[in-house]
Amino acid sequence: MIPPSSFLRRWPLAAALVLLGVFFLAATAVHFAPPGSSVAVWWPAAGLGVAFMLASGPDPRRAAIVVVGTVVTSGLANLYGGRPPLTAACFGVSNATEAAVVWWVMTRGGRRPRLASLEDLGRLLVATLVGAIVFGVMAGLTVAVTLGGPFLNTAYTVAASHAAAVLIIAPLGVAVSSTRSQPRRLEDLLQAVTLLGVAWWVFGPENGLPLAFLPLPVLVWGATRLHLRSLAAQLVALGVLVVYLTSVGGGPFASAARSGAADPETVGALTQAFLITAAITGLVLAVASTARRDALADLHSEATFTQTVLNSAAATAIIGTDSAGVITLFNRGATNLLGYPPDEVVGSLNWVELHDPTEVASRAAELGLSPGPDVLVHLLRGTDRTETRDWTWLTRDGRRIVVDLTTSAIVDQAGNATGYLGVAEDVTERRAAADAVQAALLRERRAVEQLTALDRTKTDFLSSVSHELRTPLASVLGYTEMLEDGAVGPLAPKQLDLVARIDRNGRRLLALIEDLLLNSRIESGQLHLARRPCDLVDVVDHAWESLGALTQRRDLQVRRDVVDGPVSLDGDPAALERVVTNLLSNAVKFTPDGGSVRLRLDTTHDEDGAGSARLVVSDTGYGIAEHDQHQVFRRFFRSSQATERAVQGTGLGLSIVRAIVDGHDGSVAVTSTVGEGTAFTVLLPLAPVGADKS
Ligand code: ADP
Repeated sequence: MIPPSSFLRRWPLAAALVLLGVFFLAATAVHFAPPGSSVAVWWPAAGLGVAFMLASGPDPRRAAIVVVGTVVTSGLANLYGGRPPLTAACFGVSNATEAAVVWWVMTRGGRRPRLASLEDLGRLLVATLVGAIVFGVMAGLTVAVTLGGPFLNTAYTVAASHAAAVLIIAPLGVAVSSTRSQPRRLEDLLQAVTLLGVAWWVFGPENGLPLAFLPLPVLVWGATRLHLRSLAAQLVALGVLVVYLTSVGGGPFASAARSGAADPETVGALTQAFLITAAITGLVLAVASTARRDALADLHSEATFTQTVLNSAAATAIIGTDSAGVITLFNRGATNLLGYPPDEVVGSLNWVELHDPTEVASRAAELGLSPGPDVLVHLLRGTDRTETRDWTWLTRDGRRIVVDLTTSAIVDQAGNATGYLGVAEDVTERRAAADAVQAALLRERRAVEQLTALDRTKTDFLSSVSHELRTPLASVLGYTEMLEDGAVGPLAPKQLDLVARIDRNGRRLLALIEDLLLNSRIESGQLHLARRPCDLVDVVDHAWESLGALTQRRDLQVRRDVVDGPVSLDGDPAALERVVTNLLSNAVKFTPDGGSVRLRLDTTHDEDGAGSARLVVSDTGYGIAEHDQHQVFRRFFRSSQATERAVQGTGLGLSIVRAIVDGHDGSVAVTSTVGEGTAFTVLLPLAPVGADKS
């Protein structure tokens, strides 16, 4: 096959040769025109011009060049053949018009002319017919007007001769780009020799027998076997041979003329009819069988591709069945998964037998069916033609695997299922892992439930015990106070000292009980804050007063820096006092004698202008190790410094501080260095300016 690109690169040279050929063929045809006839028997020049234009493709500039060249060359050829100048010129124009018409029909819509299907061939026949009619009319007029000859007779004859020429030669130009299959050179040659040999014998000068049909079977045979281009070339050779032999008096048509049974025009018409018959018969068969061969090649490569895809899915089982469920396809993935080689199951095993029978039976009961292949595809009968679900499959060696199987119905044009396709993946491990996670989650949830219940019991217990302890302790403290006040007579100094100790320890016990109670309220979400507009300065002062009792008999420097004027916020004064007291008592507890404790209260504003009260309680005490700092607000947490030095405490104070500060939409933070001291900073939102400050 000539690659179109190289053909088109050498196009100017090719065009020049073709136009020369058109001249030569036209001159030859005029020369061989039957004596007494004003037109030639065959006009191969028309076929050559058209073939070249079609091979050149849909480019209108190239077509125009060939058309103009045809006017000139075929005009000159007619002139050379002895026709008057006007007649020659008109024939030139008519020939060019015919070529233009055929090219136009074949390239409409900007497509490249081709002969890949019977539709394409139909288009060529129509183009040839229209071109021949146009030429017939123009040539008839030329003969009638310039030579005074018969219009109709001329028109018929030339239309037939041109139609035959275009039909025989043009396919050569179109076949270039029409098929992908390659010619088989030796067979082509044998075929050509046989066809031309038979044609030579039938149309030879010695033979007058009416055997014109004989070359046709050879041509038909070739059409079903040969490459389209080889057949097109054979048609051209046949045309040249038959026309030549007939024109020199050989073969059945010329013999009829010799015997007086036909005039020269009839001989010409018979020759053309023969050629048209040969061309149509050969081309129809050749195009159809080439298209079939190409389609088969497509099908084959598609089948190979599908097979490759099926087998490359090594971890996915793809199983095809007929409508009864008998396996028709078993890919490599299916073999890997189930262990059966394809030839052991294809055509012999029903895919329901791959399934766990108890699972099939229970699914059958669910669907109200009897167990069998129907169970697998029952739901595919409706409008939804695929279904995905887990199934248990049994492998060849008896293992059970869980697969995620998608089944689809393969339906024919009438919508009936002709078979089924199953695509499955082994999900045994995935499902087992999911089950294990599920079970673990369940266990964890149960444990959390148990722990929550336990925690609630503990909170309830602490709360009720604390409640029960508070009343007798309050009365102990009451009586102690009475004793101190001398309500039952004055006490000796030693007695007073003992009573004071009872009172101190009793109060510590009461504070502890209060902490426990408050803690259980926080835990059960029942910390109810009675918030109202209040002045934090008052709250801080109250707490500061109680500091005296804590620092008695201690060598500590205490300092209070509080802003002038009220620090108004919306808060629960009693709860906030608790915050300040807890922080101060910690500072005192965790600072050795000789150290200092400082309380600072001021206000601050962030970038957005929102104001906060800032309370800082700092000390120069033991400090908190960095790794403990983030834990100090946890309930019952006590730092290593606290336990090493046996400082008394429960680990509840700061958790209460945090809960109360949170309840006021504030924040609390700690900074500390071991051996240098600690500072707790509490930020509480100020009441909006203009709010009631009472
Ligand atoms: P308690 O004081 O009863 O132990 P807290 O909740 O008030 O409980 O404090 C928790 C822990 O935080 C304390 O045990 C202590 O280790 C540490 N801590 C609190 N305040 C200070 C402080 N001012 N200096 C050093 N350590 C502190």
